[in-house]
Amino acid sequence: MKQNFAVIGLGRFGNSICRELVNEHQDVLAIDIDETRVNAIADVATQAIVANAQDEETLRSLEIGKFDHVIVAIGKNIQANILVTLIVKELGVPDITAKAENDTHARVLSRIGADHVVHPERDMGIRVAHHLLSPNILNYLAINDDVTMAEVKITSPDFFGKSLNELNFHQRFGLTVIAIQHGNDVTVSPAGNDIVQLNDEISVVGSTKAVDELNDRMTN
Ligand code: ATP
Repeated sequence: MKQNFAVIGLGRFGNSICRELVNEHQDVLAIDIDETRVNAIADVATQAIVANAQDEETLRSLEIGKFDHVIVAIGKNIQANILVTLIVKELGVPDITAKAENDTHARVLSRIGADHVVHPERDMGIRVAHHLLSPNILNYLAINDDVTMAEVKITSPDFFGKSLNELNFHQRFGLTVIAIQHGNDVTVSPAGNDIVQLNDEISVVGSTKAVDELNDRMTN
C-alpha cells in the first residue's frame, strides 16, 4: 500500500531512507535547510524542498500533519532534532521516527512522543561486533535487553538433515523458529516436519542467552 513519508534532514541517513522508500514505490517529501542536500535528492524524491523545519509555520503550510510517517533525520543539531520532533508530534503525525545521537537524546525523543527512536551508528556497531564475534549470526536485532531475534546459519552436523520436531529448539533452547531460508526460498512460520539443511539460515526469537547458546553449538 502506498503511503506518504516526509524525511526531514538529508544527511547520509535521511538521504538513504529517501532513496529506499522511493525504491519501494512510496511518496516521499524530502526537506533540508541546505539547498545542496535538497538538490542531491531532487530527482529521486516525489518532492524536495529547502526549508527550516524548526519553523512551525513552514511545517504547517506543508501540511505535515497529513503525512503517514515523518522521519526526523537531523543528527548533530540535537536541539533542532528535538524541536522538530515536538512540532511534528503536535501537528498530529501518527508515526514519527527520530534519529538519536546518544542515549540521553534517545530518552528525550521517546518522552516527547517519537514512536521509533533509531541510533544508526550505535545499532550498526552492535551488529558488526556480534557478526565479528559470531560469524554464524548473520543478523541480530535486540528486541529489548533480554530478548533477541537473530538469523543463524546452520553449519553443525548435529543440526542439519533434521526436522524442526527432531531439533526441538523450543524445548532445548527456549527458542522459537520463525523462518527458514534455504538459498533464496524462505519458509515463514515453518512446520514441525520442515527439514533444516546445511547452510540454511534460520530466524529465531528468544532470550539473548539462548541465541548465544545456539551459536556456540554451531561453532563448537
Ligand atoms: P548523517 O549522519 O545522516 O550523514 P550529517 O552528519 O551530514 O548527517 P546532521 O547534522 O546529522 O548532518 O544533519 C542532517 C541534515 O539535517 C543536514 O543535511 C542538515 O542540513 C539538516 N538540517 C539540520 N537542521 C535542519 C533544520 N532545522 N531544518 C531542515 N534540515 C536541517
